[in-house]
Amino acid sequence: KLKATAPPARYGGRHTVTLIPGDGIGPELAKHVCELFRFCCVPVDFEVVNVDSTKTSEDDINNAIMAIRRNGVALKGNIETNHNLPPSHKSRNTLCLCSSSSLQYHSGSVRQCDAQPVPARSEDAPQKHRHHNNQGKHGGVPGVVECLKIITRTKSLRIADYAFRTAREKGRRRVTAIHKANIMKLGDGLFLECCKEVASGYPEITFNSMIVDNTTMQLVSRPQQFDVMVMPNLYGNVVSNVCAGLVGGPGLVPGANYGENYAVFETGTRNTGKSIANKNTANPTAMLLASCLLLDHLKLHGYASMIRKAILSTITDSQLHTADLGGKGSTSEMVQSIMDMTVRLHLSL
Ligand code: ADP
Ligand code: MG
Repeated sequence: KLKATAPPARYGGRHTVTLIPGDGIGPELAKHVCELFRFCCVPVDFEVVNVDSTKTSEDDINNAIMAIRRNGVALKGNIETNHNLPPSHKSRNTLCLCSSSSLQYHSGSVRQCDAQPVPARSEDAPQKHRHHNNQGKHGGVPGVVECLKIITRTKSLRIADYAFRTAREKGRRRVTAIHKANIMKLGDGLFLECCKEVASGYPEITFNSMIVDNTTMQLVSRPQQFDVMVMPNLYGNVVSNVCAGLVGGPGLVPGANYGENYAVFETGTRNTGKSIANKNTANPTAMLLASCLLLDHLKLHGYASMIRKAILSTITDSQLHTADLGGKGSTSEMVQSIMDMTVRLHLSL
């Protein structure tokens, strides 16, 4: 069953969470999360684990995975993937998530692309669930490779059930399965069949399916037709980036990955923002909202909702926007304003 139950608090009601700062703007955003949590007296202690994207050894990755297993919960920045290294060098983002999420490629990723009251391109944005599946490559003949895509009935049923269950819990009315079963008849065919099967148990939720090619076009031209979307991992990577772009970009959307025993929280897209690192210009919203998802996972709902409200009123009431949203505000000004807002919210309780 997806959505691990969070480990109980230890040491006087406090939780220990693994923090992987990552590359680019990751470390500065991680610092702001720590600062905000301290300011709000959130009962979370971070155990910082650095993953070095320039190294080829996997020692640091193994350390990170062990830390995630120990704590059960992690918040991570994005790790740069060096595309010039041989295929044996796996993406460290994927390793952190897949290996830790439940020892294998087992997790489901959730990206909720809410429309924020900012200069975005779309008002009605969908919520999306995707299924991590295993993909392998092996060669033999020079210049020829064979890629495998593995889709399993068990995991397809599980991610579909997660999508429908979440839709029901959140009062959503439609689930759309995204696939390419017209070409990938076996794998995506099985995925689609599993979605249909699960749909029959949720009669109050409308189910439909759409080919991924058409989906990307429909998302750009008429996004309001979607509500919850469920799809295999690779389409999820592409489609979640379209969705994030629709609601304002990589600085706004948080992401969560739920496995059987572990949960990893991160930004909704895998941008490292190397070009704006250490300039105090990054939009901290995506990372801060990811930390709120983490708080919800730990059942610290009060803290999560207070920080969310403070972020929202900083964006709407004080109109404090970073450069990605066309504003002149800095990262630290935004975080300072969010802290001020939490005090006001606290006083008005
Ligand atoms: P780079 O690593 O070269 O900066 P990315 O692909 O990581 O490029 O990011 C794409 C674009 O989005 C870049 O211009 C980057 O600066 C910007 N970006 C990513 N994250 C944020 C953020 N949190 N706030 C503002 N801009 C961001
Ligand atoms: Mg980058």
